[in-house]
Amino acid sequence: MSNEKIPYKIYLSEDELPKQWYNVRADMKKKPAPLLNPGTGMPVTAEELGHVFCDELVKQELDETTPYIDIPEEILGFYKMYRPSPLVRAYCLEKALDTPAKIYYKFEGNNTSGSHKLNSAIAQAYYAKKQGLKGVTTETGAGQWGTALSMACSYFGLDCKVYMVKVSYEQKPFRREVMRTYGASVTPSPSMTTEVGKKILAEFPDTNGSLGCAISEAVEAATSQEGYRYVLGSVLSQVLLHQTVIGLETKTAMDKYGIKPDIIIGCAGGGSNLGGLIAPFMGEKLKGEADYRIIAVEPASCPSLTRGVYAYDFCDTGKVCPLQKMYTLGSGFMPSANHAGGLRYHGMSAILSELYDQGLMEAKSVEQTAVFEAAQRFARVEGILPAPESSHAIKVALDEALKCKETGEEKTILFGLTGTGYFDMYAYAAYNDGKMSDYIPSDEELQKSFDTLPKINK
Ligand SMILES: *Cc1c(COP(=O)(O)O)cnc(C)c1O
Repeated sequence: MSNEKIPYKIYLSEDELPKQWYNVRADMKKKPAPLLNPGTGMPVTAEELGHVFCDELVKQELDETTPYIDIPEEILGFYKMYRPSPLVRAYCLEKALDTPAKIYYKFEGNNTSGSHKLNSAIAQAYYAKKQGLKGVTTETGAGQWGTALSMACSYFGLDCKVYMVKVSYEQKPFRREVMRTYGASVTPSPSMTTEVGKKILAEFPDTNGSLGCAISEAVEAATSQEGYRYVLGSVLSQVLLHQTVIGLETKTAMDKYGIKPDIIIGCAGGGSNLGGLIAPFMGEKLKGEADYRIIAVEPASCPSLTRGVYAYDFCDTGKVCPLQKMYTLGSGFMPSANHAGGLRYHGMSAILSELYDQGLMEAKSVEQTAVFEAAQRFARVEGILPAPESSHAIKVALDEALKCKETGEEKTILFGLTGTGYFDMYAYAAYNDGKMSDYIPSDEELQKSFDTLPKINK
């Protein structure tokens, strides 16, 4: 089809919403390495995981062979409130860049939580409710996941306890209040409400907290209370599974107009939005049916794919979660105060780590001043104020589009626009005031953190 016929926004109808999630592991010849019990070094069993996670989610986590998993009606019903999400042809951006490239983005910021995280939050809350639980516990860094989960829990009438990284709790009072409005209780982490929190505070009384530490507290809070389980907003394979709704919708919309992306770009924190966006495309690539260039974009301040090692590591600072083989900076790595809170995790999804290790995707790291420059450029012509996390993908999409301008190539570029940035105005203020810094960890710093990897690798 000719370009003229492609609308600014490609909307699908409700009937075109995917009815199943796609489990890309089923089509991987070499699967991600199994999760290990940190005590025994043996693969974790469903029974062991069942103490921490909901039963149905454990099943999804361990399922490497079922390619398609039905989305329950109740979840589809919720999805219909804000999905299908639009796939946008960035005509205005193309014009502003004067590039022959065709740019598309899948916009996931069109819901109150402001990001793609709601896609998995609603699924996890549903399975907790179905199991008859009282509630769930979780951690949140910048607050997007906690916000999404509190919305999902209030929909299903579940209690929601959120451990929020202390520095964010203090600096991001608005997200905290959205969570409380939806009925969640929000505790700054580390706290005195858990044993692991007390231990961390005794050792580091002035700590600002970290994601890894908040995870440990949330896991303890779940396992020490009757009727509670722990839920996680990224990294795990079940979360990538739920997020495939992004990629499946994108593929349906593109197929309708005969569009085939040459390059697919996404920001990568724990890897869930990128994993979800690329899943159906990666599936074709794995089966040899099509080829795509896929790029994960991460902050230069927390470069797990580009500078990390592929090894078994702890998922949390308290070392209570199973060991996962992933690209990691070490669970003790304390990233600098980068403004993209959602990209500050030390490790990466096991699925994406394995795909990257097999050379099926690339990774780039970008510095935050350049990211905000791209965010501003995008906001001024496309009318959406992007989240700092999402702007990492924008930055690389702009770079690729500008390369096309030099070479005259009409490449089709697709990127994931994961959310909006209205709660990140301090970050925008720092950029607008010219006070933003670009911190890049030294090799020595990273080595110190690698030295703390579990011995199982040796
Ligand atoms: C959490 C978040 C991310 C990063 O998480 P992934 O699991 O890597 O997708 C990206 N963008 C936004 C807006 C987020 O909230």
